[in-house]
Amino acid sequence: AYPVPDYGLRVLHALEDASFEAWVVGGWVRDALLGAPMHDIDVTTSAPWQETERVLRAAGIEVHETGTAHGTVTAVIDGQPVEVTTYRVEGTYSDRRHPDEVRFVRDVREDLARRDFTVNAMAYHPDRGLLDLFGGREDLARGLVRAVGDPYRRFEEDALRVLRAVRFACRLGFEVEPRTQAALVACAPELDDIARERVGQEMDGVVASGRVSWALRNEFAVLARAVPALMPMRGLDQRSPYHAYDLLEHTARVCAGVEAFAGGVPTQALRWAALLHDAGKPMCASVDENGRGHFRDHQRAGAVLCKDALLGLALPHEVAGRAAALVRYHDRHLSASPAGVRRLLRRLDQARPGEAPTLAYQLLDLQRADAIAKARPYAQRAVELGAFEQALSAELLHGAAFRVRDLAVGGGDVMRELGIAPGPEVGNALSALLDDVIYGRVENSREALLAWLREKE
Ligand code: ATP
Ligand code: MG
Repeated sequence: AYPVPDYGLRVLHALEDASFEAWVVGGWVRDALLGAPMHDIDVTTSAPWQETERVLRAAGIEVHETGTAHGTVTAVIDGQPVEVTTYRVEGTYSDRRHPDEVRFVRDVREDLARRDFTVNAMAYHPDRGLLDLFGGREDLARGLVRAVGDPYRRFEEDALRVLRAVRFACRLGFEVEPRTQAALVACAPELDDIARERVGQEMDGVVASGRVSWALRNEFAVLARAVPALMPMRGLDQRSPYHAYDLLEHTARVCAGVEAFAGGVPTQALRWAALLHDAGKPMCASVDENGRGHFRDHQRAGAVLCKDALLGLALPHEVAGRAAALVRYHDRHLSASPAGVRRLLRRLDQARPGEAPTLAYQLLDLQRADAIAKARPYAQRAVELGAFEQALSAELLHGAAFRVRDLAVGGGDVMRELGIAPGPEVGNALSALLDDVIYGRVENSREALLAWLREKE
């Protein structure tokens, strides 16, 4: 028996007291069988959604009409949402994008048959037990993602399932069953027809799973359809003694490295940055007369590609901006001198105002992963990065100035001391002053800065 929480039971009982049938279904059942943490409860029921709404409200439950076109309403009990959907199947799929229509059905079996994967197509009821028509429990035990029914047909109906298969394999640490895998590769190009924000949401889930390195190695055809900037990475020889792998395998290693040792849980921006850190390399590649590879300005190009890729997938602007800032500086030499640290903080603050300290630590994680992913042991580099981390912490602890507004003097002081009028000159003078502080030529105190200005004038 699996412990359906009270708020789920209340929904089931309210529907059953009105002589409808209801089951818990989908992700909750899968995670319960796995012994994994369970989250939202989805309920599937014989009741038409109008009846669901009426019956639940009569039981004193708050109900929202969240997707009535698909037969879905959402009950909220003690702040917990429970999605309740009428048994349904999808109609014909003429354009492979949207089910043309949903058709409500009488039998829960039909509803389960329209679901994507066997592990997602089980229903559970506290009295009637598990309803597992497609061997979902066995696939859970074997660690397999398998399409319900004919995989080619199912992926043709809705190509998003191609990416969902990869997301569930990543998230659960599963393999894709061989026939499902063959169909998935064949149907991956049809992902192009799917709305970008739906692709973005599933792809973001792949990245969040922490196993994107597995997906790069095993499901590249799918990932490169979802994120075309990845495509030229495969087979790109970096022609350097530090890179024994092509760019794709290198990237997989960096992604795994970020997961392994970014302190705590890596941010989503850092994960995306790891995936796309070298995205600028293919377009910037050249080979010199000695056969060595060069990638002039690839960080700048990569940052643009990264931002475009994430915005193209309708991911949040902040995530895209942060990931791009990390890509922009991922190859920058991190100097552990106080001036070096402050210079980097100033750059990061210009890219993402107010976020420089957190971005600096994420950049450090990215650089560590990048260094370790290279073929040669990078002991020296790790020592340098350790020194940088200490210097960064020290600068932040004593409140080092790296923005104009951190200066102990302001625009008024500058105008007075230099005898200049309001205008762009004031800003220039302040940023020159910030330079002087960053490089340690003058201390950031009011007296010292005023004396320094007088001297200059
Ligand atoms: P998660 O924990 O990631 O939310 P989930 O299983 O709840 O996992 P959802 O995307 O929330 O996944 O979908 C809920 C259920 O709806 C799935 O378990 C599956 O049965 C069904 N489903 C969702 N999307 C599709 C789809 N594109 N094709 C077929 N069935 C789907
Ligand atoms: Mg869900």
